[in-house]
Amino acid sequence: MKTWIPDARNFAYLSWKHVDSLSREETLLVLPTAAVEQHGHHLPLATDTLLNNFMLGKALKLLPEDMPVYALPPVCYGKSNEHIGFPGTLSVSASTFMAVIRDLGASIAASGFKKLALFNTHGGNAALVDVMARDLRAEFGLRTFTLFGSGGAAFEGLSPQEAAYGFHAGELETALILSAAPELVHTDRYTANYIADIEKPEVLKPEFSGANFAWLTRDIAESGVMGDPRPATAENGDKWAAAAAVKVAEALTAMYRYENRFRP
Ligand SMILES: [Zn+2]
Repeated sequence: MKTWIPDARNFAYLSWKHVDSLSREETLLVLPTAAVEQHGHHLPLATDTLLNNFMLGKALKLLPEDMPVYALPPVCYGKSNEHIGFPGTLSVSASTFMAVIRDLGASIAASGFKKLALFNTHGGNAALVDVMARDLRAEFGLRTFTLFGSGGAAFEGLSPQEAAYGFHAGELETALILSAAPELVHTDRYTANYIADIEKPEVLKPEFSGANFAWLTRDIAESGVMGDPRPATAENGDKWAAAAAVKVAEALTAMYRYENRFRP
């Protein structure tokens, strides 16, 4: 898999003696969680994993060199059973996913580290990542943090409809991959599909409503796309990736500096 993580920030490139020399109290380890799943006719299966690595790599480059923040190798497989039935989707169950995160947390705690950030870029993992952040805190005393996607970056130029319901292989993800790895985007195979309309009030929607129904992609999106990739440009991808990197770097810095102000 391609990587944008600077070599000096890549935890798995270190020797154990180098790891042993790191401050256990200060070092922040970042565990990326993503997916290998269908992303429409035009994007690669690894889209969420590539975007995670691309944004994290750019963010790490913004940190001061002496700030000890390291990226662990990603958990590429996620809970993607919403995309089952589309060839190529490789999903693990919720219990498997949580067991992997728990075991990695145990290893990190056994090495003596205290701070772990879970950096997730796949919606299907989000609820599990939240659960595991608390469980790792409770079971191993790790100071855990969660960060989803772009860290709250504002993507200038994205329509409100796309911002709300363009969440899978739509304009945002397509633009970011056009920026990161344009050779992987089939620009002649775009399909567009919105699963809900922000202007249309409905009691039940698939996402982001007062009441939601649980969905499988095959129920609501024949091509696998939820959003509209057609307006995507590499220029916007560059701009949005840069905006995301700033937010992710800010979040990582806050995690690195975090002290429990509730119990001094
Ligand atoms: Zn995705």
